[in-house]
Amino acid sequence: MIRIRDLQFGYPATPFRLQIPSWEVPDAARVAIVGPSGSGKTTLLHLLAGILVPQQGQIEMGAFNVTRMNDASRRDFRASQIGLVFQRFELIDYLNVASNILLPYTINRALQIDASVRKRMQELAHRAGISHLLRRPVQRLSQGEQQRVAICRALITQPQWLLADEPTGNLDPQNKRLIVDLLHQQAEVSQATLIMVTHDVSLMADFSLTVDFQSWCAAPRDASRQEAIP
Ligand code: ADP
Ligand code: MG
Repeated sequence: MIRIRDLQFGYPATPFRLQIPSWEVPDAARVAIVGPSGSGKTTLLHLLAGILVPQQGQIEMGAFNVTRMNDASRRDFRASQIGLVFQRFELIDYLNVASNILLPYTINRALQIDASVRKRMQELAHRAGISHLLRRPVQRLSQGEQQRVAICRALITQPQWLLADEPTGNLDPQNKRLIVDLLHQQAEVSQATLIMVTHDVSLMADFSLTVDFQSWCAAPRDASRQEAIP
């Protein structure tokens, strides 16, 4: 279960505020998050993953209260329990595809790369259609290929929570279907909760719950105009 209570978050010196009085997501749910650009969808995923910390409120991810952890515990929690597909991939440029996929294992020292992890890496890369690219530095990949590396990296630890931020944005229709099916299948196998930000109405039918973000965004829609121009 994901449980949010009285959450308030704002970036320093900006008018944007995310306020969620109460939100619960049952285990193994499939949640689609929709909403206008700038409404805070990415911010919410980063709060759930413990990358950002709210000014107020509680975020419980199962038995983990991410709002009560110190930085090091949140980083370990993220590496072992969360599969996050970043909107902008956040791959490490100078590493090859295989090393990027295995990155969670270098972040959390409690995680060990063994033969089964390597096998899973090969299988995921194969499913995502990038197995021929494993040794290539990611800076020499197309956007769509980079996106698929980011998705394999999110799946490699078989995390309990899969958070995907517009994971099909750079994919052609065929790869889009393949990747969405891969995310759903992996969620099914590990009984993980899948939360996916998407604008793609053709994907909505696959989800048990749709959340429209507009109602959670307390900032005025034209908030950007109120920001001081340096
Ligand atoms: P979405 O993913 O729904 O498009 P975001 O969560 O990325 O929205 O952003 C929500 C709001 O917060 C936007 O107004 C955006 O400009 C602002 N924002 C995002 N990241 C930062 C940041 N690092 N510092 C300051 N403001 C930010
Ligand atoms: Mg976003």
